[in-house]
Amino acid sequence: MKADGAVMTGPCCEKDGSSRPLSVVVLGSGAAAMAAVIAATERGAQVHVVERATVGGTCVNVGCVPSKHLVRSAQLQHWCDEHVEISDGCRCDGVPNAHKLHASRQALVERLRWQKYESVLDENPHVTVWHGEASFEDSRTVRVRSLAAQATQTETLLHFDRCLIAVGAEPYIPPIDGLASVPFWTSTEALASDTVPHRLGVVGSSAVALELAQAYARLGSRVTIFARRGLCTRTDPLVGETLMQALLDDDRIRIHCGALVESVQCEDGVFKVTLTTSQAVFMTDALLVASGRRPSTAALNMAAAGVSWHAASGQIPVDTHMRTNVPHIYAAGDCAQMPQLVYVAAAAGTRAAINMTGGEACLDLSLVPWVIFCEPQAAAVGLTEAEAQARGLRTETRTLPITSVPRCIVHGEKFGFLKLVAETPSMRIVGAQAVAAEASDMISTVAVAMRGHLTVADLSGMLLPYLTASEAVKLVAQSFTRDVHQLSCCAG
Ligand SMILES: Cc1cc2nc3c(=O)[nH]c(=O)nc-3n(C[C@H](O)[C@H](O)[C@H](O)COP(=O)(O)OP(=O)(O)OC[C@H]3O[C@@H](n4cnc5c(N)ncnc54)[C@H](O)[C@@H]3O)c2cc1C
Repeated sequence: MKADGAVMTGPCCEKDGSSRPLSVVVLGSGAAAMAAVIAATERGAQVHVVERATVGGTCVNVGCVPSKHLVRSAQLQHWCDEHVEISDGCRCDGVPNAHKLHASRQALVERLRWQKYESVLDENPHVTVWHGEASFEDSRTVRVRSLAAQATQTETLLHFDRCLIAVGAEPYIPPIDGLASVPFWTSTEALASDTVPHRLGVVGSSAVALELAQAYARLGSRVTIFARRGLCTRTDPLVGETLMQALLDDDRIRIHCGALVESVQCEDGVFKVTLTTSQAVFMTDALLVASGRRPSTAALNMAAAGVSWHAASGQIPVDTHMRTNVPHIYAAGDCAQMPQLVYVAAAAGTRAAINMTGGEACLDLSLVPWVIFCEPQAAAVGLTEAEAQARGLRTETRTLPITSVPRCIVHGEKFGFLKLVAETPSMRIVGAQAVAAEASDMISTVAVAMRGHLTVADLSGMLLPYLTASEAVKLVAQSFTRDVHQLSCCAG
């Protein structure tokens, strides 16, 4: 079977000719690790998983799952506030119960952790889980130090034929004067909180920063975002401008662009945030630092195994087969040089496992759609107009405001657009950017079209259901050749 360049071969055994199963050590138990464990054991390997914290890693415990639960809860609260006439009938009293929300978020995390991680590991006879911190002893051995109290601490040496480093990333803490001595939040504390601060300061404008900032605003906080540059500065400028407009439509949110935080102090539970740029001072009751994430590789002693990493970013360089510079040691997920997204981590983990067990699989990162789960969402795939032109492509683009998309009109959406970038003269789609309540669905549709090398004409002629987000993709394609305002309500 072949999946995205993957050649599956038969069950593996070590190359010394013995029939003993290949011994694979996987460091970490997050998305990359789990995908690798499943693929490696299916292919006959004996796998040892080493985890120093909670099984399941970031996504299920402190990342995607609890953050999207919080975002959704806050959206429902906002919807109730905005539609009192209906929400009254739904017995929504307008006051969010942060304690109950936290309990339901935690219950979801625990259920999914059991279903997708713990039970999968427990029930697989070819997997042994070691609870402790891993570090390399040499290029064939990992030391596992149990995290029990010092007196009862044990150490185990695991010898391996292949090793996958899948230790993920942790919040990056910028060098701000005073920050280390105040009780600031990272996303982990923000998601674990069962209270809503009256005022929340947010340092950073990453996806995590914006999602949590808007969610807390909708639950009642007055939120101030300190953004070093603007919003979404790595894509088409229209994305950041539109998202900014939409966020600022909520008068509980303020955004300071070009804001460099110089120092932070905390007295009697009140944070004092001073900006370098204007010497302005802001008071908040909680402070969230969400300025990106750095690989958690510090404890690994990678030098002992001869594994290289980038000194500045901490990322482990890998080739398309997830191989590090040491042929039998692989890396995947947030600790490796690839986008920090859970679906990238899982895809990389699977491919690493296939390659570690004698198969051949490469990861194609030429098309990585991404989404910021604010309301409206921001999402993109492929090249922006500027990136395409910088690569020497000639382009033609169209931008469709959401006020021309039937679903967005019916839903009363106020801010957004879908922009399609095509290369000329072929008119093949090379990228798209969107801000809309369901921008993720629009962009996923474009991603599939791009994978199939479709053109503007192909998309224009497709039958896509009326009143769906995907219909916007067809409409923006049609707008290359006609004025969509003059089409009948279901564009034919
Ligand atoms: C708040 C938040 C929201 C997010 N939302 C999204 C989203 O909506 N969509 C999306 O695609 N991505 C999202 N992400 C990113 C996503 O969660 C990560 O890309 C993904 O979980 C990374 O998986 P991983 O397997 O590489 O690492 P992880 O899941 O972080 O797993 C690494 C594991 O290794 C363990 N470990 C570290 N060092 C050692 C050691 N020395 N010994 C033993 N174990 C060790 C850690 O304890 C951890 O359990 C979000 C992240 C955050 C923080």
